[in-house]
Order: sequence, then C-alpha cells, then structure tokens
Amino acid sequence: GRERARAAAAGPVVRPDGTPVTVSANVGGRAEARAALAAGADAVGLLRTELLYVDRPRLPGEDEQAAELGAVLAELGDRRAVVRTLDVGGDKLLPALDLDPWRHGPLGVRGVRYAFGHPDLLRTQLRAVLRAAYGRGEVWLMAPMVTVAAEARRFRLLVEEVAGELAAAGTAFARPAKVGVMVEVPAAALVADEICAEVDFVSVGSNDLTQYVMAADRTNDAVGDLYQPGHEAVWRLLATLVDAARSAGRHVAVCGELAGEPDAAVRLVRMGVDELSMAPSGIPDVKAALRSRLG
Ligand code: PEP
Ligand code: MG
Repeated sequence: GRERARAAAAGPVVRPDGTPVTVSANVGGRAEARAALAAGADAVGLLRTELLYVDRPRLPGEDEQAAELGAVLAELGDRRAVVRTLDVGGDKLLPALDLDPWRHGPLGVRGVRYAFGHPDLLRTQLRAVLRAAYGRGEVWLMAPMVTVAAEARRFRLLVEEVAGELAAAGTAFARPAKVGVMVEVPAAALVADEICAEVDFVSVGSNDLTQYVMAADRTNDAVGDLYQPGHEAVWRLLATLVDAARSAGRHVAVCGELAGEPDAAVRLVRMGVDELSMAPSGIPDVKAALRSRLG
C-alpha cells in the first residue's frame, strides 16, 4: 500500500555507473515541504515563492518574507532547496500587483522580465532569501523565464551584489551554493551553451517550455490538444539543452510536470538529466520506475 511505497521511496536513486539521480519535490509552502519529505524527496528542486504572495492585498516586506521562507526551509532540515525568485505574469497574476493580463501575459512582461523592471521588489526578495538561508540546509537560487544569456548574467551579478551588501552591513545570511536559471523559453534552450557560461545549473520548466514550443497557451482549453509535453518537438529541444549543459559540466534538472511521469522520467535520466523535481505525490512511483528500469 501507500506506506510501503513511501518507505521504498526513501533513499537515493543511483545509476548502474554509481552516479546519483536526485528526485526532488516542487513545493510552495510548509505543508508541501512536509509532504515532500514524507513522500521520500531527496531535496526540493523548485520552491515556488509566489505562493507566499497570493491571497494578499499587499506584498510582504523583507522581514516577513525571510520569516516565511525560513519556516519552509526549517521543515527541510539539512536538505537542499532550490528557491525560485518571483514568477509573476503569464498564468500567475497576483492580486497584490494588479497586472494587466495582456502586458503581463505569457509573451509579455513576466518572470525575470518583471523582476528586472521592479528592482526593489527583486532586491527585497533576494535579501529575504539569503537571510532565510542562514543556518539552514543548502539553498540554490534560480530565476524564471530567462530568454537570453545576458539575463542570466544580470541575475547572477545582482545576487552577488546583494550578498555583498548583506556582508558589508554585518547581517546574518548565507550565500546561495549555486545560482541558476530556469529554461522554459525555446530561445534559452537553443543558446544553452551561452547561458551555461553564466550560471552553475539549469532547470527545465517543461510546463512553460511546452506552451512556447507548441504555441499553445497552457491555460487555454481550446488549444489543449496541442499542449503536449511529450511531443517529439519538446523532446528534441530537451536533447539539445541537456547535451549543451552536460558539455559545459552544469547540473541539469527538470522541474515541470513531465518529470513526474514515470516513462518520461526514465527517458530524461537516460538523456543525462541529473535531477527530476515534481509534485510530492509523484515521487514514490518515479523512484520505483527509475530503480527498476535504469541499467
Ligand atoms: C514550468 O513552467 O514547467 C514550471 C516548473 O514552472 P511553473 O509551472 O510554476 O510555471
Ligand atoms: Mg514556468
């Protein structure tokens, strides 16, 4: 039954050559962090911070964000967490920001584009994440919706700048162990070599990548038949990206829904993906599939 599946999921998955595959969880808050550990997650591969902001009339300040994130990280003990900076726009229109749905639609000002246009908001969030990371397990930082290498560079430099400010002020904080970006725009996958020159890791957002490869809005049922995460076009682009990331020696993860489907998970790991991150409920089946079919 369920308990047996969970017990079997605990512990790492190792390839026949001895290299580990990280099977991690996508979480948005404390309850999901607890569910992730119960399901056997090795780590958190995607902490969606915008969930801390929904259902609020105003955005929380730096201290409140640091406290909330710290509480999520505390649930994880010494496990590593990849914290994604605010991803607003597209399918995520926060009430507190009153975003125009066209200007901030899927092809508009969303994700890191929005964050760069609101530097105080991004800086506040980065300060909160670095402060929350103090005394916790390893924290990695990543930016959503990156399109070109210059954005990856700008993000990394901003993280370094904020860390420098916190250090100069004598504030308790921890530097992120790695800084990376999400690959969810086809252009980013196609210039993955340039992007990998700027960052420590990449994580594929297959939900958005599918939307943009297939030109099918992920929220529009009228084109739902074309929104196919498992389409050959998506797989070919993934192969390009994974080859580039591996050539550059960068950790490559997949954190969209595709990673949580056992057949796709096996195929991704065979392609050379280092980490699969998914809803906690998907972890036991994916670990079981990898253990029985890799090799
Ligand atoms: C994705 O796009 O695949 C992803 C993981 O991010 P989100 O679903 O939050 O956009
Ligand atoms: Mg996305």
